Order: sequence, then structure tokens, then C-alpha cells
Amino acid sequence: MFQKILIANRGEIALRVLRACKELGIQTVVVHSTADSDAMHVRLADESVCIGPPPSRESYLNIHQIVAACEITGADAVHPGYGFLSENAKFADILAAHNITFIGPSGDHIRVMGDKIEAKRTAKRLGIPVVPGSDGAISEEKEAKRVAAEIGYPVIIKASAGGGGRGMKVAHTEADLEVALQTARSEAGAAFGDDAVYIEKYLQKPRHIEVQVFGDGAGRGVHFGERDCSLQRRHQKVWEEANSPALNAEERSRIGGICAKAIADLGYSGAGTIEFLYENGEFYFIEMNTRLQVEHPVTEAITGIDLVHEQIRVASGGGLSVRQEDIKFNGHAIECRINAEDARTFTPSPGTITHFHTPGGLGIRVDSGVYSGYKIPPYYDSLIGKLIVHGRNRVECMMRLRRALDEFVVDGIKTTLPLFRDLVGNPDIANGDYDIHWLEKYLAKGE
Ligand code: ADP
Repeated sequence: MFQKILIANRGEIALRVLRACKELGIQTVVVHSTADSDAMHVRLADESVCIGPPPSRESYLNIHQIVAACEITGADAVHPGYGFLSENAKFADILAAHNITFIGPSGDHIRVMGDKIEAKRTAKRLGIPVVPGSDGAISEEKEAKRVAAEIGYPVIIKASAGGGGRGMKVAHTEADLEVALQTARSEAGAAFGDDAVYIEKYLQKPRHIEVQVFGDGAGRGVHFGERDCSLQRRHQKVWEEANSPALNAEERSRIGGICAKAIADLGYSGAGTIEFLYENGEFYFIEMNTRLQVEHPVTEAITGIDLVHEQIRVASGGGLSVRQEDIKFNGHAIECRINAEDARTFTPSPGTITHFHTPGGLGIRVDSGVYSGYKIPPYYDSLIGKLIVHGRNRVECMMRLRRALDEFVVDGIKTTLPLFRDLVGNPDIANGDYDIHWLEKYLAKGE
């Protein structure tokens, strides 16, 4: 087992990883920018190293500084959290070259899945159902028209290097295609430094369903069931549930089994998430994330298994603590992402939190790095915490969520809490009857 883990992240996820390390008796080092000297993860860690000024590229994305912090403190492993360097193959390779373990998959697996065209090809080869579309990158309009006519309109043009819901353009007819192709390519080039785009069928009423998988790196793969992340705004997740209200046990075990086998065949190591769109009883692979997800706690709530413990065990060579048959799904869990944003306009609302009171009681978990008097720096993501609620079934979970939201107090800044208070009272949400477009339509109606 590792002696000392360096956590290369900030906010609630840095604290989340720190808690797992403490439970396992592992020393912790955190790195932070000058804007985060007062952050909770810095206060709670055994050691901390300031690695640069507030802009992420000079601190949390600065590989040399992070490697130097490992050398100075003698850390033998790095947990990257999510975002920042968590899916950076070069970072994983550089750490390996310094004999420091990257808590995640190999650089090669990150590389394959980071390129969406290559990821889709790999998924297909591994027997995972994919969205119909082009076989590779498309640059010519003529070719785009041929593929679109074959799969049928509407189609979506996506950046191969895309992420965070950016770089996607929908074309409803052949007349839209040329502009969509040009805009997608130039936006992809500007945002990701790579203008490769591909085409796939645009599904009109799908749900976003993702399967949590783990590989032990030695040819064994397991799945931890699925999460439903259909409630999205601008292709970004807002509310997540496990299990999906749309799947039955047979579908769960079928898609889970396909994913676990693929992970085993790939020789994958660590945590991963295989993302699908789900429509009319069919699953369509869209991408794989090679890291821990923001929404992992809903899976932990229904399985009772600490996924960060598993990541650390696997990376240290100790293997997984569970076999597939040990993983049982118990009840229902929902996570709400609480952002420092206006609940209607979603404009960021940094500033000082004058009062912070979190709900408690059976089935409630709050993962957050903020506290009363904490000043939210304007430089980073606006996520300030996550409320995760567990119940014996979805009805009990929703009852508990409603009262937990009533108890939650965040004063001094605007947050997205009022949105969730509206959502728990909505009949479609109560019935679990929503697709990936539901939230955008709901928000548009309210304006
Ligand atoms: P990113 O890596 O940027 O998050 P994804 O490929 O995971 O991109 O897609 C993000 C979201 O975009 C999906 O959850 C879904 O809402 C929407 N989306 C992506 N592909 C399609 C598609 N073929 N049809 C309809 N919606 C899509």
C-alpha cells in the first residue's frame, strides 16, 4: 500500500479523496494555488505545497510543479480527482517515468478513450453498441452529406477531442449541414487545438445512462450498475440518480455485463465510466471517461462500496475488494450538484459565504469543501458541493431529498438550490419521466 498520496485537485473532490486516504491510514499531501490557501482540503491535509498563482494552467495544470511537489514531499502516488489532469495521458506517463503511481488507468488507455473517434472504434470492437455514424473523422462536405443521408437526419457533429459538452452542432436538414460542419470544425480547433470532427445520429428523446466499471489491470472487470444523468443543462449534468428509473434488472445486468467484459478484455486498470444514450430500449455508446466522476457517490450510496478506496487498492496492486457477485444494489440515490450560480440565469456568483448549514439525518451525505466565512475564488468551476440522498426506494429518496433541500442554508451568494426545490415538486421528476432535453425545455418555459 502507498505511504503518501498527493492529491492534485481542489474543492470537494480533493476533500473526498483526502477522506479515503485518512481511512486507509495513508499520509496526504495537497497542492494548491495562492487563491486556495484557506481551502478546507489544505487545512485538513498532513502537508500542503503551494504550486502557483490562481490561473489553473499555472497551478493545477502545471505538471512540472506537481511532479516537483511529489519529489519534495516523497509522495509515492498521485490521485488526480476529476477535471484538471485526470485524463491527461502525458501526466500519467511523466509520473510513471518518475516512479510515481498515477491512480488511474495507463497513459495508453487514457489516450485511446480521450480521442472520441478512436474510443468509438474500440467500443465497437469490444462488442459495445454504438450510435450509428461515420467510421472516422469527416472533413469534406460531400462525405458528410453521404453519411447523413445514410443514417438519416437529424445528425450531430462532434469534436473528436471534445469534452465538457462543448463542440457539438446539430443539423436537422441537409441545408444545415455545411454550416454545422464548418462551425464545429473551427470551434473544435479553437477549443481543443484539434479540428477533427465526426458525425452521428442525433437521438431525439434519449436518456443519458452511464455504467460504472472497474478493471483490476490483470484481466478482471466488474460493473457497479448504472447512473441516470439525463437532467442536463447545456449538455452538463445537474442531477444524477442510481439506479435509472428507466431500466429493469434484466437490462441493468445485460448492459453491465457487456461493459464489464469489455473492461476485462481491454486489460483496463482502475475506475471508468462507459456513457450511453438510451432510447426505445436500446443503448448507444457515446464515450468513456477514464476517471472518477462527479456523480460517483450515488453508486456508493446504493452499493455501500467506497470507490476511491477501490481506486487506491487497484493502483497499489492490491486488486479489487469485491467480485461481481458481491456487488448488490440497495435502494435508490439522487445527487444534486450545488453551484455558486443564479438558479435561473446560471450566471456565476462568486463571493463570501456568510452562513453555511448542511442538512443531516438518515440517508443524507453532503460533499463540499466550503464553510461559513469561505470566500469563493472566481477562477474555478462553480461547483461548491453535492447533496446525495439515499432511500430504500425512489419515493422515500425523493421525500428525504425534499426535506434535506429545505434544511440547506447557503447565505451570501446565489446557488442552484432553488432549482432543486422546484424540481422535487415536479410531477415528471416524481415519476422519473424525463429525457436529456427535459430540463432545457422546463427552464425555457419558466422565463
Ligand atoms: P462530452 O464529452 O462533451 O460530455 P458526450 O459525447 O459525452 O460529450 O455528450 C454529452 C451530451 O451531449 C450527452 O449526454 C447528450 O446530452 C448530448 N449528446 C451527445 N451525443 C448525442 C447524440 N448522438 N444525440 C443526442 N444527444 C447527444
